[in-house]
Amino acid sequence: MSRPQSIPSRWKQLQSNVVNCSHCPRLIDHCKAVAQKKRRAYENEAYWGKPVPDFGSPRVGLLIVGLAPGAHGANRTGRMFTGDRSGDWLYRAMHRVGFANQEKSIDAQDGLKLVDCAITNICRCAPPQNKPSTEELKNCSPYFAETLELCDPIVVLALGGLAWNATLRELVRVGWFNRPPRRPKFGHGEKVSLNNNRFLLGSYHPSQQNTFTGKLTKPMLDRVFKNALKLINQNRPETE
Ligand code: SF4
Repeated sequence: MSRPQSIPSRWKQLQSNVVNCSHCPRLIDHCKAVAQKKRRAYENEAYWGKPVPDFGSPRVGLLIVGLAPGAHGANRTGRMFTGDRSGDWLYRAMHRVGFANQEKSIDAQDGLKLVDCAITNICRCAPPQNKPSTEELKNCSPYFAETLELCDPIVVLALGGLAWNATLRELVRVGWFNRPPRRPKFGHGEKVSLNNNRFLLGSYHPSQQNTFTGKLTKPMLDRVFKNALKLINQNRPETE
């Protein structure tokens, strides 16, 4: 009888499965096409151009859930939220509150380390117009479910309404949330209590659309991360 795999080896296997996945031909083609065409500012760089694995490690207090890799951000650098303005905003806020060792996020070799935190996307491939189809999201959901299970976070932070809805669906499926009569509505700073002292928090996505227009400000994002930290500290099991 084979021995069950350890959490770190399952995590490694999951990331390898993601990187080698080809379930969504439209997305795989798009990632490659963007990587070949490139943006002028990055024309001398080798793009990643394939599915982007989770960033961070398993068994963390906080799991951040985004929508999909940016075409010239994570699809270029191969690391979640790295190499574009959304990532700059996110990592600066995480560093201010202590979830990252530095605010700088340039490429996968820049020394950035997450602290008690991991980052995932509900869709691991950069989609055209930043819009994955329902079927593509469904294809990617088993990876999300495994990330949830392996991270086993106290707080799940969904960035944006699409990530919020997909996360709620998955939380019901994995049994961390009992389906309520009405789906909790997404909003910035919203909090949903889950089973076993876990929580779902919502934040506006740190996209340029939100940060340039002032819909999402630094204090607003800091408040969400501070709330996440407080919930983690209050609810971490004593045996840890
Ligand atoms: S979106 Fe997910 S399921 Fe689809 S090809 Fe990329 S990694 Fe695979």
